[in-house]
Amino acid sequence: MQNAIRARYKHDIPSLYPSQICCVFFTHMHSDHTLDYPELAFKLWWRRSRPLQAFGPAGLRQMTDAMNAMMATDTRLRTTGAQPVADPEMYQVNVTEISAGVVFQRDGIRIEAFDVNHGTIKPAFGYRITTDDRTIVISGDTAYSEELIDKARGADLLFHEVISDTGLARNAPQWRDYHRQAHTPGNELGRLANIVRPKKLVLYHGLFYGEPEQGVVDEVRAVYDGDVVLADDLDTF
Ligand SMILES: [Zn+2]
Ligand SMILES: [Zn+2]
Repeated sequence: MQNAIRARYKHDIPSLYPSQICCVFFTHMHSDHTLDYPELAFKLWWRRSRPLQAFGPAGLRQMTDAMNAMMATDTRLRTTGAQPVADPEMYQVNVTEISAGVVFQRDGIRIEAFDVNHGTIKPAFGYRITTDDRTIVISGDTAYSEELIDKARGADLLFHEVISDTGLARNAPQWRDYHRQAHTPGNELGRLANIVRPKKLVLYHGLFYGEPEQGVVDEVRAVYDGDVVLADDLDTF
């Protein structure tokens, strides 16, 4: 959330200020993708004029209810004391549990969820976002996925997770097996990118295991000659 505030001012994007963020889309319910949810939902909600909307897999509603219970004392203190509160109900998130398909269509933005291949973790979604001038695909967590190839063809930006080939080799055999069926090694991502040919490939959710982070870009480039970069906080594309 601190980076959202930084981005709001650095790039002058008012809709990234916490109380202005309209929506959040979860790819799957793994903790590394959900632990910031309470921070987003309960950051400056007392300034909200519209509730946060959350879209994600089954389990999101249960998590939201539990989050509200976790924060109940804070909510009571803020709504019964001297603090100004625009609307005492605005801490409540509008939750939509989704399945694959178009999940959002508004203001010229269309967002389609599609199934990816995150091993035994189901459902796990990627998102294809279409605006007036660009198509952006986000892989979520996935091993090599034919479905993603289908959805990402012709995309302007493909954000894809990656695990370092050399980092993977450092893992114990049972972890290597687990990661192989759940994540995409650099060389396989290069092969995938050769089929998809996005205008720009942005690597994110990198798993490096102590390897130099830029090394994974080299692994992709060894088999892919297109435009590829490793994402960093506050980058714009
Ligand atoms: Zn995951
Ligand atoms: Zn993850």
